[in-house]
Amino acid sequence: MRMPIIAGNWKMNTTVDEALDLVDAMLEALDEVEEVEVVLCPPFVSLDLLAEALEGSSVAVGAQNMHYLDKGAYTGEISPVMLAELCDYVILGHSERRQYFGETDELVNKKVVAALHHGLIPIVCVGETLAQHDAGQTEAVVTSQVQGCLAGIEATDVADLVIAYEPVWAIGTGRAASGSGANAVIATIRRTIAELYDVATAQSVRVQYGGSVNAANIAEFVRQPEIDGALVGGASLKAEEFVDIVRQTAEIKGH
Ligand code: PEP
Repeated sequence: MRMPIIAGNWKMNTTVDEALDLVDAMLEALDEVEEVEVVLCPPFVSLDLLAEALEGSSVAVGAQNMHYLDKGAYTGEISPVMLAELCDYVILGHSERRQYFGETDELVNKKVVAALHHGLIPIVCVGETLAQHDAGQTEAVVTSQVQGCLAGIEATDVADLVIAYEPVWAIGTGRAASGSGANAVIATIRRTIAELYDVATAQSVRVQYGGSVNAANIAEFVRQPEIDGALVGGASLKAEEFVDIVRQTAEIKGH
């Protein structure tokens, strides 16, 4: 059985004080939920204090991006070595990184390799744009992104990582995919991994849905057999709603 996983991507929101207040408002309730892994991904500047605040709890910390090199003259960048001291997870290849910072599958692949090398669990984001969706290219785009992002990575590493299927047209738009539509794309992702590796690896990898997830629609997604949880943006900034999302996931996926 795959452990369900809900991650909150706070994007470029929250000062350090606001981040700590937000955690304070949700931690007790999150800590009570046993059957869902929860990861909070604040801006870099809050990672340290957030990790401290979450120490001893069941809630993990993740970063939103990283460089693939250990160190060097890359002004403004953060390396996996630095992150490994502070967190367990790192979101890689988010569509906003691809759209605004020109990240390609090749670059994301280098980051995935580096993250794994340093013991970080990557949450690898894939998903089609609206134009690709409307042109019926979803399966081809997502398959090619999975192949590109995982190139050269061993099956044992793939089994432990997390993939987030996030249709670009659903991110921050209030227009979520349907549960069955997301489930079908995620089944394609697993098929791709089974072809690249084997069925056991494809069955081990956890795949989230992301894109306008909220407390009103999370049940539709986590009821689907292929969907192991969600990567949540906007709704993860609202303590009560995020806790509700995690609780519903535990209720539906719990055993
Ligand atoms: C995201 O940040 O990955 C995301 C899915 O955002 P939202 O939930 O706001 O659509």
